[in-house]
Amino acid sequence: MSLSHWEYDTYFRDLDVAVIGGGIVGLNAAWALRRARPDLRVVVFERGSLPYGASTRNAGFACFGSVTEVMDDLERMPEAEVRALMARRYQGLRRLRENLGDDAIGYEPLGGWELIADDATMARCLAFLPTLNAWAAEFTGQPEAYADGTAHLAEFGFGGTRHLIHNRAEGLVHTGHMMDALMRQSVASGVSLCHGAWVERMDEDGDGVELHTQPFGPVRARRAVVCTNGFARQLLPVLDVTPARAQVLVTDPIPELRFRGAFHFDEGYYYFRNVGDQVLFGGARNLDFAGETTTEMVTTGHIQDRLERCLREIIIPGVDFRVQRRWSGIMGLGPTKSPIVQAVSGTTVAAVRMGGMGVALGTLAGEEAAALTLGTL
Ligand SMILES: Cc1cc2nc3c(=O)[nH]c(=O)nc-3n(C[C@H](O)[C@H](O)[C@H](O)COP(=O)(O)OP(=O)(O)OC[C@H]3O[C@@H](n4cnc5c(N)ncnc54)[C@H](O)[C@@H]3O)c2cc1C
Repeated sequence: MSLSHWEYDTYFRDLDVAVIGGGIVGLNAAWALRRARPDLRVVVFERGSLPYGASTRNAGFACFGSVTEVMDDLERMPEAEVRALMARRYQGLRRLRENLGDDAIGYEPLGGWELIADDATMARCLAFLPTLNAWAAEFTGQPEAYADGTAHLAEFGFGGTRHLIHNRAEGLVHTGHMMDALMRQSVASGVSLCHGAWVERMDEDGDGVELHTQPFGPVRARRAVVCTNGFARQLLPVLDVTPARAQVLVTDPIPELRFRGAFHFDEGYYYFRNVGDQVLFGGARNLDFAGETTTEMVTTGHIQDRLERCLREIIIPGVDFRVQRRWSGIMGLGPTKSPIVQAVSGTTVAAVRMGGMGVALGTLAGEEAAALTLGTL
């Protein structure tokens, strides 16, 4: 397909910055560019008619790290990096809330909870809590963000669970409303959103970048910001990003649902929350790491069966439920959980690899990518 004069003139002529990927990171990058420089022509190229990665398909946890997840991270990452990442998630959530407003993103400060199945794990968690609270106090300002919440166990009615840990500084967002608000703000600032545009290839020269797009053909911009997360290696094969599918289901409303908030177990591999009176539940990627290392956005029987079994045995034991909807999304992972936000050449910046906490990391990652790009213009 070739562009008409009108299409080219209105949307693609003299582009200053092409942002590739219309998820939370790409939209934040584009919006921040226009806030800083309203004279710039900024277009977001998104291959889906809606964003088609993780940002509209996640669980909406506004979280910065459950206790067993942080303990597990410390086995793989240096302490300084783990602490910096927790702080960055918290600060990213603050920024998201400031930028868009709690009403617009459906923010609910309901707290985060971790389910602990056995006494030995709880003993390890309790021994670690003073250290974790000291770290969290540095960025939350709360002396005891994490606390033993086991007293609430009977109230929630979970099976196979002996203890709970509560994090009062966490919450939930309405993922769809958050992304809708972000799209509206971006457009209001003068960003053009070009949905249904797949960037097949990028060719850089000293002055700018030529994007080969489907179906619009070649488009030129002075700078590119690549925000394609789990799909990053298609355009930038040098980046160490691996796609990882995450599967989710949501039940029909459960009469008299007994819990509200963000819940995790097994080092964050399983996560559930209420959406009104429905239960949204995702995870079980650790059942089949190899099979879930894919960009194919489908659900599979064995993961969904495990999720349903956990619903029956742990989350709502003894309650009849019907699964209303199942879906998956694609995350971008790497050897550490820290995202990549860096210039990859004189004309291109990448902001990718948000892991399982891009709701928390995405705003700052996008804004940092914008700042790096502005420095070259
Ligand atoms: C099921 C699930 C649950 C999650 N739950 C949470 C949670 O509760 N809390 C949390 O903090 N995080 C969660 N995450 C992670 C979070 O959603 C992601 O880290 C975050 O959305 C990543 O944002 P992004 O903008 O980097 O990437 P994406 O949202 O994936 O956006 C990248 C976009 O790039 C587009 N794209 C890719 N290649 C091209 C191309 N060549 N040309 C044009 N467009 C392209 C894609 O269509 C996509 O829309 C979850 C993720 C999943 C999948």
